Amino acid sequence: MLSFTTETLPVRNPRTGVYDYEIEIPTPDDLDYLCAQLRKAQINWAQTPVEGRIEAMQTWKAVVETHKAELIEALCHDTGRRWESLLEADIVATSIDRWCGISQTFFAPAERRTSSIPFLQIEQDLVPYQLVGVISPWNFPLLLSLIDTIPALLAGCAVVVKPSEVTPRFIKVINKTIAAVPALASVLQYVAGAGATGAELTKRADLICFTGSTATGRRVYQAACDHFIPVFLELGGKDAALVFEGADLEKASAALLWGGTANAGQSCLSIERIYVQSTVFQEFIEKITARATAIGLAYPTTDSGKIGPIISDKQVAIINEHLADALRKGATVLTGSTQCEALGGGYYCRPTILTNVNHGMKIMTEETFGPILPVMAFNTREEAIQLANSTVYGLSGAVFAATNEEAMAVAKHMTAGAISINDAALTAIMHEGEKNAFKMSGIGGTRMGPSAIKRFMRQKSYLIKNNQQPDPWWF
Ligand code: NAD
Repeated sequence: MLSFTTETLPVRNPRTGVYDYEIEIPTPDDLDYLCAQLRKAQINWAQTPVEGRIEAMQTWKAVVETHKAELIEALCHDTGRRWESLLEADIVATSIDRWCGISQTFFAPAERRTSSIPFLQIEQDLVPYQLVGVISPWNFPLLLSLIDTIPALLAGCAVVVKPSEVTPRFIKVINKTIAAVPALASVLQYVAGAGATGAELTKRADLICFTGSTATGRRVYQAACDHFIPVFLELGGKDAALVFEGADLEKASAALLWGGTANAGQSCLSIERIYVQSTVFQEFIEKITARATAIGLAYPTTDSGKIGPIISDKQVAIINEHLADALRKGATVLTGSTQCEALGGGYYCRPTILTNVNHGMKIMTEETFGPILPVMAFNTREEAIQLANSTVYGLSGAVFAATNEEAMAVAKHMTAGAISINDAALTAIMHEGEKNAFKMSGIGGTRMGPSAIKRFMRQKSYLIKNNQQPDPWWF
């Protein structure tokens, strides 16, 4: 494994507020060396039949399983929460299996076929990009560092992963598991670092997969343009849910509370706005408020309740600003927090239900990334669709109606890449539907399903002349 001799960066513990960890930042020279090594090894990796790459991934899966407890411990320290950390660690094995299964059928041997010009045959090929850079955020540190990495490796690329500097404790553990699989260690490395390291990686990779905020995504897009490389951006969201008269309000309130407050709302696919038909508005509000009030904070211990700390202190400031702006402009807090609460050095926000909200408030238009559900009434179907689409984002959304058909008919008009029908935030558990991020929530091909692998490969055609035939256009 490579060891970097470099400057360090302190890391804050989200439960205690204490800077109790530090990361070593690679220098540009370190990155040059690492990338050169990975590029060298990628040649052999790409030539290895896909069965060989699958075998290496399966070996890695087994090694990760043996380090699972250590990985979970590091993730708990990184994020201050336990349940979601267990989930993240579990997902490694299922993700590897899913992508290995897809790869088995995806990489069928190339077939030569006759073209529309009778004396020319065509053979098509897929050529992996040599070095993929994956840059990931802090809200699901392990899961989001792997979501593009696994298919990129199976496609035959080498990968450098640069997770968020806010949650880097798991990097040491994951690099230990990688080192135990020599075939993989030569083509996969995690590096610690902040934005500057991400920017340096953008200069060295042949393709970038970026998951993070829209503001940083724009910078990454511009840098990729300078270096003439493709980028896949998965960015912020302001997911809307629509609840129509006739919907099961018991189910809708339970699903939306989960969709908006799980992981303390720190998910790109969190429900951040709810619009309810005026005829059932009051009943819905009562149900969701009662449910929200019953959900406790995961404080003083990770098992005390469901809502863990806000992981990044920068996010605390954003949540507080959105709440203050809404309250100043007339919003009512029915239950929850009016500001993040400082407890034991960490910051917590209770499941918060707001009414008397409008689109003049940040809480209705900007990504909050906290467990806050502002609820607004609508009268007509057209008004509901117009409100849901009144956003620069287009990640996902949800519709609740009397029937799936009725909900589907509305969902067809929503400008977002995935809509949950009579449920909420289903993209958290369902990784099969191919989808794009709409508008400023992202750019590039789907990261789900078989066509996600194709993002890591260029298509190449061999145009083969049948020598028996003359060429009518030759001089
Ligand atoms: P962020 O944009 O601040 O940081 C993301 C990553 O980019 C980090 O690793 C950071 O170090 C790196 N970075 C910062 N500046 C960079 C630069 N100039 N060049 C290259 N890399 C740079 O995002 P965050 O605060 O860590 O994460 C929260 C955001 O992520 C939210 O907006 C959330 O919606 C979004 N997100 C999106 C998805 C999705 O799939 N669409 C999933 C999870 C999170």
